Amino acid sequence: MKKVLLFLIVALISTNISHATLVGKEKEQCPICEREIEVLHWASFGSYIYERDSKYDLIYFPFDDPRFIWICPNCGYAQTYNLFLKLSEKEKKQLRGFLADKWTTQTDDDISSETRFNQAILVNKFLEKDDHFWALFNRILIYHYRKINPEVAKQFAQTEIKLLKRDKGKLEHEEKTRPYLLGEYNRMLGNNDLAKKYFKQAFDVDLIAETQMGLLAVLLINMFLTGLLVLLWCKKISTTPKRVILSTIIFAGILSLSAIIYLAPKAIGNIHAQNDYYNKIIMERLKILYTDQQ
Ligand SMILES: [Zn+2]
Repeated sequence: MKKVLLFLIVALISTNISHATLVGKEKEQCPICEREIEVLHWASFGSYIYERDSKYDLIYFPFDDPRFIWICPNCGYAQTYNLFLKLSEKEKKQLRGFLADKWTTQTDDDISSETRFNQAILVNKFLEKDDHFWALFNRILIYHYRKINPEVAKQFAQTEIKLLKRDKGKLEHEEKTRPYLLGEYNRMLGNNDLAKKYFKQAFDVDLIAETQMGLLAVLLINMFLTGLLVLLWCKKISTTPKRVILSTIIFAGILSLSAIIYLAPKAIGNIHAQNDYYNKIIMERLKILYTDQQ
């Protein structure tokens, strides 16, 4: 039910997608040393981000830009932009002490990607982030290290396989995306037969049928309940104030029924596109596997 509602909301807002990636420099205060630092903020993005190479790790903008990790050149505190300021007073104090002998103050704001990653890994290990955090962060690292250092990317892939197999990492449409990622990381490590097995498993998951069934269930439940209330109203078993309440609920029922009927085709169209999107990625990866082996 929750999923169906989510699709309906997505269908509603997806008509209003902007088509430009807006990046702007802004000042933020480092929570550790309290110096003012320059960081990047992302204002908006377009649907084209889903076609970038990071899609093979199911990673999307701004995480495909190493500057999504904000870093303070003064104290070396580094964290993903969305978590940078979210520290308790205790964590701030502990990190201040921890980072003191691990960083040499830099004057240049332009810090390399690897330094950003290394410092962020150090900070997040210190903060003892949970496996769900690492399952996502690790995938981001894999994407970047595919280019920086493929051997290191493979090490991250080994860790990621263990996390994915333990159901760590919150994934969208995970019945399809989890086996896909297991296939992709096994492919990276040269476990080609295993990769094919996972890719097939992912390809066979039909997100459309699941959504159609969910929508049908919501529609039928709504129709049944509204019908029942109309029946009660017609039988005049209620007193006048109760009839007013009943009429209001019936009106709300009919209204939500209309909304479901209106939004259902959009929701199905949307999930159709997502199912095709994942299948295209899977086929592209399978193609590499079969081409490499010839
Ligand atoms: Zn700082």
